[in-house]
Amino acid sequence: MTIKPLVLLPDPILRQPSKTVERVDDDLRRFADDMLETMYDAPGIGLAAIQVGEPIRMLVMDVSKEEDEKNPFVLINPEIVSSGDDVSTYEEGCLSIPDYYAEVERPATVTVNYLDRDGNKASLTADGLFATCVQHEIDHLNGVLFIDHISKLKRDMVVKKFTKLAKQRGGTRL
Ligand code: ZN
Repeated sequence: MTIKPLVLLPDPILRQPSKTVERVDDDLRRFADDMLETMYDAPGIGLAAIQVGEPIRMLVMDVSKEEDEKNPFVLINPEIVSSGDDVSTYEEGCLSIPDYYAEVERPATVTVNYLDRDGNKASLTADGLFATCVQHEIDHLNGVLFIDHISKLKRDMVVKKFTKLAKQRGGTRL
C-alpha cells in the first residue's frame, strides 16, 4: 500500500466535481486501500479520492475510536437519498485544510446509497459522527469544502492563510 500526497487548500483541484466510477475492479480496490492507508497515516477519519488528486466519486472512512478495532468503509458513487430533520453541530476539520477547525451544522441523520468495494449496491443510515463525516466527504465529491458552511469572513481568512502558506512552500501541492 502507498501513502499518497494530500492535495491542500487552495489547490483548485479541490473545487473540481468528481466523476462517477464506471467500473469497480482490482485497480480501484488497490486505490481504495492506498486511500485508507493515507487516511490512517494522516491521521484522519475520512478521505475523498479528490484529496489525493483523483476526481472520482469514491471515499473512505473509519470513525471508530483509536482504541477500538479498525472499521474501514469504502463508499463508491455515494448518494444521500434522505436526511433527517434534526441537525447536529460538530467541530470539523479536513486533511486538505490542516490544523483548522470550525463548527458546522448538518442533518443529524442521513441515508446513503452506494456501491461497496465489491461493486455491490449497498445502503446505510447513519447518525452521530458517521453522519457528519459522510456528508463532509460527499461534499468533497461535489467540489464543496467544510469552510463553505461557515461565514464568508472566516472562510476568506482561512483561504488567505493557506494561500500564503502555499506560496511559502513554492506551490500549492506538497
Ligand atoms: Zn475534508
